[in-house]
Amino acid sequence: MAEEENQFEEFDQIDFLRDRHVRFFQRTLQVLPERYASLETTRLTIIFFALSGLDVLDALDVIEKNIMIEWIYSLQVLPTEDQSNLSRCGFRGSSHIGIPYSTKGPGVLHPYDSGHVAMTYTGLCSLLILGDDLSRVNKQACLAGLKALQLEDGSFYAVPEGSENDIRFIYCAASICYMLDDWSGIDIQKAIEYIRGSLSYDNGFGQGAGRESHGGWTYCAIASLCLMGRLEEALSQRELDRIRRWCIMRQQTGFHGRPNKPVDTCYSFWVGATLELLDVFQYTNFEKNRSFILSTQDRLVGGFAKWPDSHPGSPRSQETELLTLQGDGLKATLGQNRHCTQSLLNITEQNSVCI
Ligand SMILES: [Zn+2]
Repeated sequence: MAEEENQFEEFDQIDFLRDRHVRFFQRTLQVLPERYASLETTRLTIIFFALSGLDVLDALDVIEKNIMIEWIYSLQVLPTEDQSNLSRCGFRGSSHIGIPYSTKGPGVLHPYDSGHVAMTYTGLCSLLILGDDLSRVNKQACLAGLKALQLEDGSFYAVPEGSENDIRFIYCAASICYMLDDWSGIDIQKAIEYIRGSLSYDNGFGQGAGRESHGGWTYCAIASLCLMGRLEEALSQRELDRIRRWCIMRQQTGFHGRPNKPVDTCYSFWVGATLELLDVFQYTNFEKNRSFILSTQDRLVGGFAKWPDSHPGSPRSQETELLTLQGDGLKATLGQNRHCTQSLLNITEQNSVCI
């Protein structure tokens, strides 16, 4: 027993290498290894993770904010002169499609150009993180584009052509409406019905009705309801308590996303943030969680991995872990859409690494 305690103490003494992590995010904003080429279409998401990571580390002064703000505005899909593309507006993920660089309208019609709900969400978040006031966002067009993505069952597509549709994109939609302070882009009642329908028999949320409970979906469900201000209306106290219990039971050292799965750093955010939103984060073992996350820290290049002795991936999971290390104020910062909006891991549809 004494030996175990000693081990734990030693484990606990791992330093948090802030400067390494700052450099990791800086590098991410400059150049990415070739293996990330497939993320090009969702580059805005990568930018968002790096920016929020720097923000959490209080290191935003290492970047040229104005240049970044202009670049993000160049990704806004603006209405054409005849406004025939309103239902396709929002933010695109990068300039891969070849639309000429421009931060001003009118937009250019292109058959394959449209916003993507997760890019609109990360674009707006990034602008806010950079201190922009969103005054150049065409809110009317953004909301028209958003509205066109909602399905009859209350869920959202990511793009106008259709895609997967589930609770992730409801979360993106709710975040967009919250940031734009205008809920006309979403049928809230239908969205709530979809979320309620995704509550599983074991009291976590699945991707949709009848699907397995999962930490990421549970976060998206609870955070969406919080953003809408409808948490206690949509779920009874009894249901909320059962959801709290399901989330608390996900802690091992760090957290896992589903019963009987290994812990993975990202769930320290997904489940940890949900517990924070449900006012019960204080009942977790903070030290064990923190120690697990620190054990996944890359001491050479910065960044955090899913597991100890594995390599840090793209920065999408990085900020998640930083947040958990910071450990407080998740709920308090909900309004700034800084901390609670990290749920992109599962939102860009490219993530299949989390189990
Ligand atoms: Zn993960």
